[in-house]
Amino acid sequence: MEYDILIVGAGPSGISTALHLAQLAPQLAARTLVLEKAHHPRPKLCAGGLVIDAEVILQRLGLDVDEVPHADAGVAHFDFEGRGLEVRVPHTHALRMVRRDEFDAWLVQKARERGIAIQEGVTVTGVAPGPDGVKVITDRGEMYARVVVGADGSNGVVRRSILPDSAVHTARLLEVLTPPPEGASGHKAEGAYFEFACIPDGIAGYTWDFPTQLKGRPMQCWGVYDTNLLADRARPPLRDVLAEEMARHGYRLDDYELKGHPIRWFDPFSRFAVPGVLLVGDAAGADAILGEGISIALGYGRLAAQAIQSAFARGDFSFRDYRPRLRRSPLGRALTARTWLAYLYYRLRWRWFQRLLWHRLGGLVVAVAWLFVINWARRSR
Ligand SMILES: Cc1cc2nc3c(=O)[nH]c(=O)nc-3n(C[C@H](O)[C@H](O)[C@H](O)COP(=O)(O)OP(=O)(O)OC[C@H]3O[C@@H](n4cnc5c(N)ncnc54)[C@H](O)[C@@H]3O)c2cc1C
Repeated sequence: MEYDILIVGAGPSGISTALHLAQLAPQLAARTLVLEKAHHPRPKLCAGGLVIDAEVILQRLGLDVDEVPHADAGVAHFDFEGRGLEVRVPHTHALRMVRRDEFDAWLVQKARERGIAIQEGVTVTGVAPGPDGVKVITDRGEMYARVVVGADGSNGVVRRSILPDSAVHTARLLEVLTPPPEGASGHKAEGAYFEFACIPDGIAGYTWDFPTQLKGRPMQCWGVYDTNLLADRARPPLRDVLAEEMARHGYRLDDYELKGHPIRWFDPFSRFAVPGVLLVGDAAGADAILGEGISIALGYGRLAAQAIQSAFARGDFSFRDYRPRLRRSPLGRALTARTWLAYLYYRLRWRWFQRLLWHRLGGLVVAVAWLFVINWARRSR
């Protein structure tokens, strides 16, 4: 079977691209193959926090995320030194936590049920766009397609092949899973916590602490996110920052397995396509301010499917308009705002400022977040 569209990576961005193609242009979806190096369910380091935008996109695809095992946080706390802002969403949870092996395997199953071909255990090692199509080099041999979608994550080979000199903006993250707190002082298991106390020390990010589940057993997910925006200054080892936050709640980091992975974040001046090849998800760039990338990956999938549909309709595979369409879209506007907010906010590292912001100006933070950061999916067409 010859395929016109090859999607590299069966994570949320790749599968969302395929599912949106199936929704918007079924004739193109039938000529699409997703290549995935792993076998689902595969491990993916991630806290699995789904924000409202992810749920809106899944609903519009006709998918019921309730089918995936999850833990809900009724309230999200945004704190500085243990005190701050409580965010609730009327009539629903503030954040839903899934395990990514389960969530991604569910998405893959839904795509297969809709007729999408997915080949697992195939590693793409390079792509080479040419005048009549794109050569895709894999560990199983070479393939050719009219369009290739790079959905292969922050360390992806597709971006490296097509844009080898592009600027790199990566955040570093560490994550650990522990049993849930048992009456740890001042700690509510049903809340998701974001703590920004590390900023004055030079970590341009936050520590998190979310309820989650593992095979139905309640667990706690801890982590630390650093945009690297203060990398030019002295800063403590990232591991120590997480260890200190966990110690505040009675946990010893040394007792648990610590894992790390980077996130490429969105640069509005970056390139996201070359003729024949589009980038989506982390390969294109996730949210800079919090490192939130699942809803973003799902959102890119819709834009990529629209761009592919219009390329086939016009017979123009330059994808010259992908970047302006992305930038003008509600997703692109939210990503751009988050990048500028990250540059601004993480440089304001004075303790007095952080206290003022989180302890006194909560209403302002919520208004800015609602306008620029969250709730973009409902505005997407
Ligand atoms: C520690 C951590 C915590 C996070 N927590 C959250 C959170 O709570 N909420 C949130 O919204 N986001 C979170 N994120 C971000 C989120 O995980 C990513 O933004 C999201 O996974 C991006 O999806 P994607 O489909 O673009 O890439 P990925 O999920 O990375 O999927 C890429 C896929 O491509 C495959 N692949 C890679 N290379 C190749 C190749 N050469 N050939 C074939 N296949 C290939 C991979 O196996 C993988 O299946 C977190 C990230 C980290 C690191």
